[in-house]
Amino acid sequence: MAPLSSYVTGSWHVPDDEGAPLHDAVTGEEVARISSAGVDFGATLQYGRRVGGPALRELTFHRRAALLKSLASHLREHREELYELSLRTGATLGDSKFDVDGGIGVLFSYSSKGRRELPNDTVHLDGGVEPLGKGGSFVGQHLYTPMRGVAVQINAFNFPVWGPLEKLAPAFLAGMPSLVKPAGQTAYVTARLVELIVGSGILPEGALQLICGSTGDLFEHLTEQDLVAFTGSASTAQKLRTHPVVAARSVRFNAEADSLNCSILGPDAVPGGQEFDLFVKQLVTEMTVKAGQKCTAIRRAFVPAALLGEVAEAAAARLAKVTVGNPADPSVRMGALASLGQREEVRRALKALIAAGSVVYGDPERVEVVGADAERGAFVSPVLLRVDDPDRAEPHEVEAFGPVSALMPYTSAEQVIELAARGQGSLVGSVVTGDGAFAREVVLGTAPWHGRLLVLDTEAAKESTGHGSPLPVLVHGGPGRAGGGEEMGGVRGVLHHMNRTAVQASPAMLGAITGRWVPGGERTVTEVHPFRKHLEDLRPGDTVIAGPRRVGLEDIEHFAEFTGDKFYAHMDEEAARANPFFDGRVAHGYLIVSLAAGLFVDPDPGPVLANYGLENLRFLTPVYPGDELTVTLTAKQIDPREGAPYGEVRWDADVTKQDGSSVAKYDVLTLVARRDTSSASS
Ligand code: NAP
Repeated sequence: MAPLSSYVTGSWHVPDDEGAPLHDAVTGEEVARISSAGVDFGATLQYGRRVGGPALRELTFHRRAALLKSLASHLREHREELYELSLRTGATLGDSKFDVDGGIGVLFSYSSKGRRELPNDTVHLDGGVEPLGKGGSFVGQHLYTPMRGVAVQINAFNFPVWGPLEKLAPAFLAGMPSLVKPAGQTAYVTARLVELIVGSGILPEGALQLICGSTGDLFEHLTEQDLVAFTGSASTAQKLRTHPVVAARSVRFNAEADSLNCSILGPDAVPGGQEFDLFVKQLVTEMTVKAGQKCTAIRRAFVPAALLGEVAEAAAARLAKVTVGNPADPSVRMGALASLGQREEVRRALKALIAAGSVVYGDPERVEVVGADAERGAFVSPVLLRVDDPDRAEPHEVEAFGPVSALMPYTSAEQVIELAARGQGSLVGSVVTGDGAFAREVVLGTAPWHGRLLVLDTEAAKESTGHGSPLPVLVHGGPGRAGGGEEMGGVRGVLHHMNRTAVQASPAMLGAITGRWVPGGERTVTEVHPFRKHLEDLRPGDTVIAGPRRVGLEDIEHFAEFTGDKFYAHMDEEAARANPFFDGRVAHGYLIVSLAAGLFVDPDPGPVLANYGLENLRFLTPVYPGDELTVTLTAKQIDPREGAPYGEVRWDADVTKQDGSSVAKYDVLTLVARRDTSSASS
């Protein structure tokens, strides 16, 4: 059997030795061999920094997002092949869809987030401009730039496709190259995934490298610009995060480790009721999907003490319907663990757990299987335990990384919050209840120990994505035992790969650096109205100043009649005077915004296609009958949209009155056509 190759420094590296065997989880046959012998780890990191990094940083967020989308589509065309290969890891088709489709879904999600929430630019601004001096000549702005190193991504064996893709997507979008290291046991699936990616030619060279086998002296070559994103056991996480180079060079280190996630059934549940059924169904699903080899699986199930027996019975009845066996057989609901070694680990953990309670369902040593040899394959029965004393240490400390959960009773919200916290930090917890007060108490009480909390009632159940599914738009990670890290969460995950810098400068200088117009910076009142300029011709700072426009009482009354907004401050002099903010009747805020538009708009058909919103609108000074308004509209940010014949232009609007005071400030958002539509397809 040929050993798996690593993809490093621009080519496939065949290991220098014959490697160690990897076995089919179902049949025990050799699937592949693995070794990273001969890989030059220092050169690999250097290649990512030298080749991948610059190629990525040349692309804007939108361009990177577009590539992620192409990649997702490409992988979707090849997913059958990945499902097929995953059978050998013990995964059923359902399990593989979770892994493969889930991973592809992360790429699509990041592509869409990147286009919608990040600029078509290479720099991302964080927050607004902070005035730092009274005269307006010195300001501050936080900005994010991609780190100049490599994102070293070490994955666990249970998700050979989702694992690498959920780490690659945010790193790629940030502009940081990835070096993927899959766990040995299922590395042949990740290796095929990387072959598909490299073969597609979609990603720039150097943006993705792969190491099959051990990481050798890789950590010795890390610098302060690299980062490590680790998923696996708490013990490996501890070992790696205390590596002398990681410590000495403050290498950013994110860990997603094991966790003893809980699910809590509310006190409002009744046997056979909807919440009761939801709780039992979810528990059994989480125990059996991926044969319980999910970092997010429910390990501890807390139920009101009076319901313990009934929940145990209902869950056991459901588990009895789960067929275990060869994942290729369509009747099989639960496949094998990833390896015989893994089965040994699960059995060892079960021994410790059983000492704390009794077995409600399953036999740790024996299982009936369909279509396979129960001993040669890494099969194990789902095992549900009942631990009557929830103060026992074992269920809060021992993770059996397989189809194993422990049921425990509780008697009050306070107690269950304390029990949940004994997991010392978890990725996810569920509260299954229809009682809002209980949900609030438990969510607020357990949130400091959790990265994600799912509150399940009959309404949410209609569309719930489930306890065990990390979602690209939500954070995945958890405090303490769960690793103390955080991944994904939409753009939050991208920013983990970038450095935030506070830049202090004059407004003009800050504008030059960020490519945006900064308040206080130079305005250019152009001869041509800026609404007559195409996207390519507009410059940050292009300005139109329009007005003055007198606001009469008749305007206020007309607006009130026309819109129906007859709020007393606009209509009743005496009542308006009694208001602490006004000296008499005032113009409607929306009238001011409308009059401002009437002043700055250039009416004829032209490159400005649409107004799609206002942001940060604040009314600052009241406008009284007789006041005169002037508006200054300045192009602030110009964002061509990838693949579209138009882009987004953000304008700074400042409406002032005769004494120069600002009465309203806001951003106007418009879509503006490109002059050259051929560049839209670039
Ligand atoms: P593991 O032994 O810690 O291995 C995880 C990864 O670390 C593998 O790629 C492994 O590679 C690598 N590794 C191990 N020792 C290393 C070292 N000295 N230097 C560099 N890399 C090293 O964990 P596992 O047993 O494979 O995974 C199961 C555990 O992961 C469970 O506890 C589970 O809860 C946790 N998990 C957590 C999440 C999450 O998102 N939080 C997700 C999945 C799994 P080799 O395979 O080559 O040793």
